[in-house]
Amino acid sequence: MSETDYSLNTSIKNLKGIGPKKLQAFNNSSIYSVIDLLNYYPRRYLDRSTVKLIKDLKIHDSVTILGNIEICGIRRTRNRALFEAIISDGTGFVKLIWFNGAKYIKQLIKKDDRLAVHGKIEFFNGYQILHPDYDKIHTDIDPINTGSIVALYPLTSEFKKEKIEHRFFRRLMRETEPYIEKIYDYFDREFLDKEKLISLRKAIKNIHFPDSLIDLKLSIERLKFDEHFFLQLLMVLRRSSLKRINTKPFKIGGKKEKKIIDNLGFELTNAQKKVIKEINNDIAGNSAMNRLLQGDVGSGKTIVSIITSIVAVENNMQVAIMAPTEILANQHYQSFIKYLDLVQISCALIVGKQKNTEKENILSALKDGKINIIIGTHALIQKKVKFSNLGLIVVDEQHRFGVLQRGNLLNKGVQPHLLAMTATPIPRTMAITYHGDMDLSIIDEMPKNRKKIITKVVNNKRLLKVYDFMKQEISFGRQCIVVYPLVEETNKSDLAAATEGFEKLKKAFKNINLGLIHGKMTKIKKDTIMGQFVNNTINILVSTTVIEVGIDVPNASVILIEHSERFGLTQLHQLRGRVGRGTAKSYCILVERYVTPNSKKRLEVLEKTSDGFIIADEDLKMRGPGKFFSTEQSGFFNYKLADMINDGALIRKARNCAQRIVDNDSKLENHLIMKQRLLNDYSQYFDTINIT
Ligand code: ADP
Ligand code: MG
Repeated sequence: MSETDYSLNTSIKNLKGIGPKKLQAFNNSSIYSVIDLLNYYPRRYLDRSTVKLIKDLKIHDSVTILGNIEICGIRRTRNRALFEAIISDGTGFVKLIWFNGAKYIKQLIKKDDRLAVHGKIEFFNGYQILHPDYDKIHTDIDPINTGSIVALYPLTSEFKKEKIEHRFFRRLMRETEPYIEKIYDYFDREFLDKEKLISLRKAIKNIHFPDSLIDLKLSIERLKFDEHFFLQLLMVLRRSSLKRINTKPFKIGGKKEKKIIDNLGFELTNAQKKVIKEINNDIAGNSAMNRLLQGDVGSGKTIVSIITSIVAVENNMQVAIMAPTEILANQHYQSFIKYLDLVQISCALIVGKQKNTEKENILSALKDGKINIIIGTHALIQKKVKFSNLGLIVVDEQHRFGVLQRGNLLNKGVQPHLLAMTATPIPRTMAITYHGDMDLSIIDEMPKNRKKIITKVVNNKRLLKVYDFMKQEISFGRQCIVVYPLVEETNKSDLAAATEGFEKLKKAFKNINLGLIHGKMTKIKKDTIMGQFVNNTINILVSTTVIEVGIDVPNASVILIEHSERFGLTQLHQLRGRVGRGTAKSYCILVERYVTPNSKKRLEVLEKTSDGFIIADEDLKMRGPGKFFSTEQSGFFNYKLADMINDGALIRKARNCAQRIVDNDSKLENHLIMKQRLLNDYSQYFDTINIT
């Protein structure tokens, strides 16, 4: 291949300026070819309009300033060495401070360096920025001198080690310009015009070399659209291929189903009835159900899943129920057998810590079809678990499992229906992204007997008063739960925190029975403690976050959550749902240990509302999607520019476009470039899709 081919797969070693060492630095950052380089977007841009003058700064502003280092060096305080630098732009001075890695920073920042500094302005004997993010700027790319828009690239430590800085990066990027012509679009002209998107070539060019802020905005919009589009395309394909799985229609309205509904001891809420109808519609049809049931804690999802399970069994199918923890699996088991015994349906629990012989017996009975319903944790997706005729899978707290495992379980049955349940109310735009391959049912109504849980944020000065209040509740025969979080910074496990708290509480609550429960206990120990709590021989249950979901003790009326500022709002909301399940007035006490204006604002949301959707929205806004979902799940959104919170309209547009394309070309046979990128980006999620 001659160099003038400008193939996008050309190794970057053919670009001017890339020697073996620099090549290694790029390779270590996963950049091998020209196209990899073109897909390495700037992380920030500087131009005259984005840079602030020091004289115009205000406290708490997040800003970019551009100036020269006047003085800098390491300063020693009593117990640490910190690096300080004074930067000036001719209109004033700002002090920059690094508490960590002073020696390392000293090698990077020198007197007279010209820096663009990004950070939040604080005031302490003058303006300062702690741990600023910065870029070294050379005069030939200085936006103030050149009047241009300067792209700043993410410079990894690999790059810095090889002295690859912004000037080099920009020069290198210029070398790639002729290759841009070789980029093919996934969309045709007509499509782009209709959706008001610029071409991919133009977008890639402008993301690196924007002529104007408007060009830049348009190219960001196009590239963001692509990121959303491919994720939506994945979802639409998954959804449509799941819909194509043929199933034998279930008969609804069998004897056992009726008997259970008549013997619940309560009337189903209208929301529950509506949801059951939606589910029945699915399973009475010809294709596999793939439905997400959303409902706040205590809204009565479990009973819905019991009814659906009975329908499946009456249609001679087996059911697998998956819960995120063993405690929860056990609790589901208890709820299920309470009803299933009435109608002679066999049900078994399988958890990690059972004796081998016991497990083997269950597994062989399951394989022979002697067990109708099996309840467990992820252990259920292990290979050795075999079914005789798996027809329905119920996944509780779906969001904890991640997309990947869903497929594993689906492979176990011939054509199983899937009912996923979650108490985490997922904001709408996120639901079409994250659960975009499923149909959605919502229980938006609580059983009538529920009362609002009174929620109070307190600081530890009021703790003794709270303890008195708990003692009073206990004297009325009620029970309390105290929860301790994981203490990440100190590397102390939540177990240690709970154990320590337990000892303290024992002293504060003399003559009252306390029990400690945590994830590292044996199953037997956990069950014993839970049993004692359920039958009220334990008055105060001290727990790590294992108790988060599902635990159902109607007599518990107070939940006290320590270090509540460390929890996400949705998690707190879930924890709060552990109380208020009975007839007694219930309380949730959020103890705030490290008060910041932000933590205060967050926790107040819980004082004000018990609407899970509002809470989820706030949580998402304040913490971002990365924290909202667990880490391995947030990796699923491999967004570079896109974000889920602010791109609502773009996400919906991407969804519609993806749907339209799949409707006309379900295997993407007429969209080969598009298909290639999809396979590149999301190959590991193709467990249920067949387009290759
Ligand atoms: P979820 O799983 O949605 O958190 P559960 O199904 O565990 O909620 O229900 C919480 C409690 O409410 C259970 O004790 C359950 O028996 C009860 N319950 C469910 N539906 C109703 C209803 N319609 N009326 C009264 N109580 C109900
Ligand atoms: Mg539940």
